[in-house]
Amino acid sequence: MPPLPVNREYTLLKPAAQRLGLHPFDIPMLRNSVPYGGRPPCMQCRWCVGFACEVNAKCGTQNTSIPAALATGNCELRTGCMAREVMTDARGRATGVAYYDADDRLREQTADIVIVSSAAVESARLLLNSKSKMHPAGLGNRYGWVGRNFQGHSYSGAYGLFDFETYDDIGPGASIAVCDYNHGTPGLIGGAMLANEFIRLPYQFVGTAPPGVPQWGRGHKDYMRQWYRRSMAVQGPTQEIPIAESRVDVDAKVKDFWGLPVARLSGGKHPKTMETAAAMTDKAEAWLKAAGAIRTWKKLPGKGTSGGQHQAGTCRMGDDPRVSVVDKYCRVHDQDNLYVIDGSVHVTNGGFNPVLTIMAIAYYAAERIVKLRKGRGV
Ligand code: SF4
Repeated sequence: MPPLPVNREYTLLKPAAQRLGLHPFDIPMLRNSVPYGGRPPCMQCRWCVGFACEVNAKCGTQNTSIPAALATGNCELRTGCMAREVMTDARGRATGVAYYDADDRLREQTADIVIVSSAAVESARLLLNSKSKMHPAGLGNRYGWVGRNFQGHSYSGAYGLFDFETYDDIGPGASIAVCDYNHGTPGLIGGAMLANEFIRLPYQFVGTAPPGVPQWGRGHKDYMRQWYRRSMAVQGPTQEIPIAESRVDVDAKVKDFWGLPVARLSGGKHPKTMETAAAMTDKAEAWLKAAGAIRTWKKLPGKGTSGGQHQAGTCRMGDDPRVSVVDKYCRVHDQDNLYVIDGSVHVTNGGFNPVLTIMAIAYYAAERIVKLRKGRGV
């Protein structure tokens, strides 16, 4: 599909990036830009972030791979269920999944192959809650790596105010990006793709106000009236250096509705990640100024562990079972029929939104599983 039609921010930021010697490009948005797959194109509304798409143009498994799988007749979808544990036999081999169904009845589903695909927090939690005599610390956790290296992205960038209108009421908003700072910046480890932000509703805009702007009353209203349509934001997902202390584990005391130990997140960010994030704010600010911003201010990430979005890393991939959880085909090291396929296996997210990498690894691992299955390797 071609890129979505450009918005006003694009027309301002593109020449500015070129003046700075950068290499701007249209962002692949995972939204239909033309009719595709039985779904209409994006109608460029202003509610793209935080809301379901009213025309179903946004891509997700609910409107892409799951309907395709169901159409084969080989897939049965059970919704409203909660996995309790991956079951294992006396030798410690995965035999299926115990789960609560939509009526909260405990069920067991036996399986030749089990694939855990619940994103980095819940995949780690499920493996850690799958304890047995052969796996006393949880499945795949012989060397204590499940849940460690938890990471997301340290979003960092800058906001700018302009003395002309930048807002054109055309979503999704994010339209132009540069990858010039992802790698190879002297003195930094990693970097980020930088892009203009999604279209902002007034309540989202007010949360980005610069220091000193009142949160209520006349001053607040004046700020909103004057600047809502004369602002831009540029930010990006700064790559996080994985650290073992940033982790997901399960709480010994706190249980959820089904009596399962809840996930507990702890740790922080590597100091070098914070340095890179700070450098990305400088780059974003320079881009906004080149586009004509008359006032700019920075957005720095906090020092705590991230993972509120783009969560990854908790079942890291590697050749050595002593320092990783899955092999290069996403198979759990000490198991021949148990896989983890989601962002958990990322050693690092890099400085990009991780979804395309997750999809690529999923296809790669699935192809291998099919081949093994046909040869009865599993
Ligand atoms: S802007 Fe986002 S929510 Fe609106 S139609 Fe396009 S994809 Fe859907």
